[in-house]
Amino acid sequence: MDSLEQSAAAARLAAVTGRIGAAAKAAGRDAASVRLVAVSKLQPEARVSGALEAGHRLFGENRVQEAEARWPAFKERYPDIRLHLIGGLQTNKVRAAVQLFDVIETVDRPRLAAALAREFERAGRALPCFVQVNTGDEPQKSGVSPARLDGFLDECRTVYGLEVVGLMCIPPAEDPPGPHFAFLREAARRNGLEGLSMGMSADFETAIRFGATHVRVGSAVFGARG
Ligand SMILES: *Cc1c(COP(=O)(O)O)cnc(C)c1O
Repeated sequence: MDSLEQSAAAARLAAVTGRIGAAAKAAGRDAASVRLVAVSKLQPEARVSGALEAGHRLFGENRVQEAEARWPAFKERYPDIRLHLIGGLQTNKVRAAVQLFDVIETVDRPRLAAALAREFERAGRALPCFVQVNTGDEPQKSGVSPARLDGFLDECRTVYGLEVVGLMCIPPAEDPPGPHFAFLREAARRNGLEGLSMGMSADFETAIRFGATHVRVGSAVFGARG
């Protein structure tokens, strides 16, 4: 049954890749300008290895501890895996995160920016970062508020020397996502950033229309989480 799970994951992956290509084409964009970050949190091992065997190498996890349990072994077998941290990062997990991940998508406050800068220096390994924006100003959600974004980006670059490559957002579940994606695109343009991490299973095609460079897709690739 593991091989069934594996081939199902490979088939879903191919379907999502096809939809990404079609959405890019419809938007007049090159399909290669949209990367699929396959979100493997809480997914059975066989589905993840199915995606790996199908040749996929770019994955997202939202928890450092969960990622630490799974990815070091996969990274030994497939050294070209690239892992994005897409969930909130506590400063006491920064060291472990910098060891395991290749991109941090969730920089959202000065204390975290400072802790990352210190760890990059100590470890001699500086990771590209996205700044997470709380585009809906939702109190329970992480991300820098839109009003503080430009100032925070400036601080990340000039005070902490982070390599900020883009912006990331998770729109409020109850809103149509388009205006949030449009806001993120405009904020990235204004700040000279190329990366736009936006769009999940339910709305990645919309996000591609609004310029997403990275879509973070979990259940559409792997099936419902257990
Ligand atoms: C879980 C998660 C996703 C993927 O969600 P799906 O709806 O399964 O595609 C994307 N981004 C973040 C930040 C997540 O936590």
